[in-house]
Amino acid sequence: MVKTKKRIVVLGGGFAGLECTRKLESYFLRDLDVEIILVNEDNFLLFTPMLPQVASGMIETRHIIMPIRAMIEKTIFYEDRVKNIDPFGKIVTLSGTAEKRGISLHYDYLVIALGSQTNFFGMASIEQHAYTMKTLNDAMILRNRIIDMLEQAENQTNPILKKSLLTFIVVGAGFAGIETAGELIDFVLDARKYYPHISKQDIHVIILEALPSILPGFSEKLVKFAHQKLIQRGIDIRINTAVTSFDGTEVLIKSLQDNENKNIEAIQTKTVIWTAGVTPVDTIKNSIFKTEKGKIAVNEFLEIPDFPNVFAIGDCCQTIDPITKNPYAPTAQLAEAHAKIAAHNLYALIRNKQKKSFEYRTKGQMAIIGKRSGIASVFGINVHGFLAWWLWRSVYLSKISRLEKRVRVLLDWTIDLFFDRDISRLRYLKRESSKEYKELDEVDDVW
Ligand SMILES: Cc1cc2nc3c(=O)[nH]c(=O)nc-3n(C[C@H](O)[C@H](O)[C@H](O)COP(=O)(O)OP(=O)(O)OC[C@H]3O[C@@H](n4cnc5c(N)ncnc54)[C@H](O)[C@@H]3O)c2cc1C
Repeated sequence: MVKTKKRIVVLGGGFAGLECTRKLESYFLRDLDVEIILVNEDNFLLFTPMLPQVASGMIETRHIIMPIRAMIEKTIFYEDRVKNIDPFGKIVTLSGTAEKRGISLHYDYLVIALGSQTNFFGMASIEQHAYTMKTLNDAMILRNRIIDMLEQAENQTNPILKKSLLTFIVVGAGFAGIETAGELIDFVLDARKYYPHISKQDIHVIILEALPSILPGFSEKLVKFAHQKLIQRGIDIRINTAVTSFDGTEVLIKSLQDNENKNIEAIQTKTVIWTAGVTPVDTIKNSIFKTEKGKIAVNEFLEIPDFPNVFAIGDCCQTIDPITKNPYAPTAQLAEAHAKIAAHNLYALIRNKQKKSFEYRTKGQMAIIGKRSGIASVFGINVHGFLAWWLWRSVYLSKISRLEKRVRVLLDWTIDLFFDRDISRLRYLKRESSKEYKELDEVDDVW
């Protein structure tokens, strides 16, 4: 009798999707009746916790990305964008490229792990002008922008314009915002030695946060430590403050503390870095899946209730903390915990075993705040300062799955101890060829 193959398709090769794929491989490695397919728009996994260090030039760009093909064995990998998910026909459509037409993949089981994208809360002016910190491209562009601002400010004689060039605003005081601000000030202060006309007092890094505290989720004591340390580093932190618009030269903010006082204040700046929140990617927003606050609603087994055999995991799904009754914060740790349960439950479905409910206990959380300092809460123990910074580095280094990349990051950190940051600004623009050819044709005509 011919056995029909079961096909599992995993969408998204981030922390959730890749971990789920690798777990599935461990369950079905030698089973010829199960085929696993992974789709991701990039052919690498991005190690986001170290993204701010790429923006500051401490770590080389390629050192925080791991090629997906080097981390899978049996899985068939497609580097492509997911265009559409049809859960009735059990078909996923991929966009394809100019060289390769998109294709449709049939699935028997589907795992949606498409992550999140930056949430601008509908503010078009910010979406248009602000920098973001979500992808590798974002980090590379931001590094160039910071260097460009230093280059322009160095020879600027107008003090108002110089101040605006050297004012960097980070919106959002979660992990991404605080770590970006900490790296940014370290980088700018270190780079200053090459810019004799820029003094320490000329540089302004401002963190704006709508909530009443920075780094929500940490204990009050740790938050206080981080807050004070960042201020000592010269960072201005404004909590209970919302950004209303940014036109590329002026950001408008309003205080949320006092309802009576709705005064709008303007800050002149050329650089706003928006890290104020994430929302599921458009592919999910445009899908027919039921969402809660934009995230896919799942049951205790991480399945989408209306569509048996379809799972959603990571940043794009909503799971609730039974103690606080609030959704769990979107983290890599949570994404990997989802991935393990989804892989087990797929195995259980295919092999008629017992499914497991998703239960989560965080191992802790850590944040670095620049200049060899940080805060950490691990297995209920709170530490801060150098020890937390060292812990952060040790833990995250060990979490990089490839030894080669681990060594490269370690070397980058070591080099940074002894040498200055590189301030070369790389232009990533594609050469505009059509104009050049036109000019060449005209010259040819003359000849
Ligand atoms: C700057 C920064 C710092 C962070 N620091 C920490 C930290 O210190 N600790 C921590 O735990 N968490 C941290 N996080 C959060 C963590 O990165 C996320 O929670 C985690 O990446 C979620 O995993 P995921 O697999 O759900 O999504 P992702 O890792 O975002 O993966 C989703 C994947 O899907 C792909 N994708 C999306 N749409 C499509 C499409 N249409 N077609 C094909 N592919 C698509 C994306 O390219 C991506 O590869 C940080 C995040 C950022 C941005």
